[in-house]
Amino acid sequence: MEKQSIYGLTIEELTAWFLENGEKKFRAAQVWEWLYIKRVRDFSEMTNLSKNLIAKLTTQFMINPLKQMVVQEASDGTVKYLFELPDKNMIETVLMRQEYGLSVCVTTQVGCNIGCTFCASGLLKKNRDLTAGEIVAQIMMVQHYFDERQKGERVSHVVVMGIGEPFDNYDNVMNFLHIINEAKGLAIGARHITVSTSGLANKIKEFANNGLQVNLAISLHAPNNEIRTSIMRINRRFPIEKLMDAVDEYLEKTNRRITFEYIMLNQVNDRPQHAQQLADLLKDKKKLTYVNLIPYNPVSEHDQYTRSTKADVLKFYDVLKKNGVNCVIRKEHGTDIDAACGQLRSKQMKKHIFE
Ligand code: SAH
Ligand code: SF4
Repeated sequence: MEKQSIYGLTIEELTAWFLENGEKKFRAAQVWEWLYIKRVRDFSEMTNLSKNLIAKLTTQFMINPLKQMVVQEASDGTVKYLFELPDKNMIETVLMRQEYGLSVCVTTQVGCNIGCTFCASGLLKKNRDLTAGEIVAQIMMVQHYFDERQKGERVSHVVVMGIGEPFDNYDNVMNFLHIINEAKGLAIGARHITVSTSGLANKIKEFANNGLQVNLAISLHAPNNEIRTSIMRINRRFPIEKLMDAVDEYLEKTNRRITFEYIMLNQVNDRPQHAQQLADLLKDKKKLTYVNLIPYNPVSEHDQYTRSTKADVLKFYDVLKKNGVNCVIRKEHGTDIDAACGQLRSKQMKKHIFE
């Protein structure tokens, strides 16, 4: 059987493991420091542990389950990584350079079952969920990449917007969030982490109670059920009313802002009346919400969609602004290497697998 990645353990779980193995509690803190502060890649480098303990750890765990297959760097500093998992599945991780720091976009599943009609990830049916360790390892791979450059750059922000629906892999994603947020380790601030969901209303309610101050983004993409159902199948199960019900509960419980993502699809959801409907939908929660207008990244398999014109995007933006809705037009990253976050190019993936 494949060994478990030690990256998948929370500090509490690691402490419990040491206690169960007749070791002192402080050993967990030591190992944690080796993993996340000194960032060694092999148990044998943990020089303040006994040989016996290193052997025990090595028998039980592996450190990094990912193998780097391809790295592409764009002219704006965006880096796209293709990693291989122990079972030979491939996943993609993207690093974006922002004014405020290095931001990593992580993948949570191999493929996605939500099947949105504009998304390349949805083309690959879900093969399996990623473990917490495999999600943490994506951050570590990127951090190691920067450690090697020796400029002291640190991953400071994380967006859970890669392949997969994070709330369809809820427990592993929650453990991942705890691990990267842990103050004694990577200490990535909760406010620097954003989880994006296609709108699993039941999980949004659960997320409201989880105690972490992590940001929530919801892929809304349409102002009414008719359009939303036609582009996002999940809207049958959780129509806009149910989604907004969960949103209200979340806002009330957490008092934290929610971002609504809205991909601009030419002639589909980008008319001024759609902007008005969207503004009406958000009118009683303008203080705690904002809308992110996202340029559509053409996916060759979904050629029914094209990008909205600049003029239409600006018109849409104006209607929202006039209605007092907070709104930004999202900047693109890494377009020359096709690194749009949340968008696995299945074509490219096949190419890498079969080459
Ligand atoms: N499954 C989650 C998170 C991953 S997708 C979700 O859907 O929210 C991350 C974001 O990328 C989502 O807002 C998604 O709608 C968006 N996205 C998917 N395909 C896209 C495309 N072709 N162009 C632009 N954004 C896309
Ligand atoms: Fe899955 Fe998100 Fe893509 Fe929809 S947009 S298919 S939920 S990854």
